[in-house]
Amino acid sequence: MRAPLLPLIALALPATAATFTITHFGTPPEAQVAIAHAADIWGGILVSDVPIKVAVSWSPLGGSALGVTFPNGRRDFQDAPVPSTWYATALANSIAGTELNPGEDDINVYLNSSTNWYYGLDGATPSGQYDLVSVALHELGHGLGFVGLAKKVDDEGSFGTLLASDFAPLITTFPWPEQDTLPGIFDRFLTSTASGPLTFLDNPSSALGTAFTSNQVYFNGAYAMAANDGNTARIYAPAAFALGSSCVHLNEATYPNGNPNELMTPFSSAGQSNHWPGPIAIGVMRDIGWTVAPDVGLPERGFAAYRPYIDADLRLRVIGGAHHQWLAVHDAQGRRLGAFRADEPYPLHGLAAGLYVVRGAGWAKPVILR
Ligand SMILES: [Zn+2]
Repeated sequence: MRAPLLPLIALALPATAATFTITHFGTPPEAQVAIAHAADIWGGILVSDVPIKVAVSWSPLGGSALGVTFPNGRRDFQDAPVPSTWYATALANSIAGTELNPGEDDINVYLNSSTNWYYGLDGATPSGQYDLVSVALHELGHGLGFVGLAKKVDDEGSFGTLLASDFAPLITTFPWPEQDTLPGIFDRFLTSTASGPLTFLDNPSSALGTAFTSNQVYFNGAYAMAANDGNTARIYAPAAFALGSSCVHLNEATYPNGNPNELMTPFSSAGQSNHWPGPIAIGVMRDIGWTVAPDVGLPERGFAAYRPYIDADLRLRVIGGAHHQWLAVHDAQGRRLGAFRADEPYPLHGLAAGLYVVRGAGWAKPVILR
């Protein structure tokens, strides 16, 4: 008897736009409408079969903060594209096609109840007021995965050592994950001019700390670059490390007010509005693993064309793609053997025959050493 076709037909059905289930704690009704509007904007961009659960707390945050967001996280889940790497649960759920965190929120958003907010949906924000749709769109962007796990204490930088106490008195509705000194998928695309890919550096290390505050950190995902005329996107990495701002935003000065990529910069101005994440941020979402609705449309370049091979002198070479890219070689057990630039052959002399994996920004391809 032949296998039933129904499951195949079900797989072929188009995935649906992302939907949000939002729980509010103290949020005024008119603010809830603005936040729902922001969620609808992301829902029109990203595709997921699993509803995204958001808890919004309307709280006095003190200082000048407009909002703070904590994404829940998962790693090494079913179909995870990159091992030993944290994904926001909203993204992990969309990749797995199933709810990996039943009973837990995906995203906690704190919005400052002391801010002079503009609740309108039209973007006609009066001077002196902050546009809630814009800020909610920004915060949800973090919750959906535009976020990393960089931290710096004294000279030492690290990925994946964030503690709940680092953000006290704010707390999360979900259990704070032990991050095991592992980076987030966003972090895997960070590169610095002097050091190359940041996740290739020792973690933790002063070298990582230096890179985090180098003012020379860039996002090198293929889709983000395609949306930026083929260039890496500059990340906010000021000389004074700011937890929750450094290395998790686009650079303020590069993408100022009026720039289409301004939304995911660290600072918002009163009297301004921005109701679209912009091409780079949408490219970032694709690079970290989101499926973007087809009609959102972004230019693409052929990173799928990278083709590793081993030449007659047992040197690994890569055809295609951007030659300045840093690549890594892993063995079949996932151990990293070394890093090399795409235009420089990497010697494999002395290594055992077998499967090796070449990994670049957002892609990985096998190569067989015979
Ligand atoms: Zn932010």
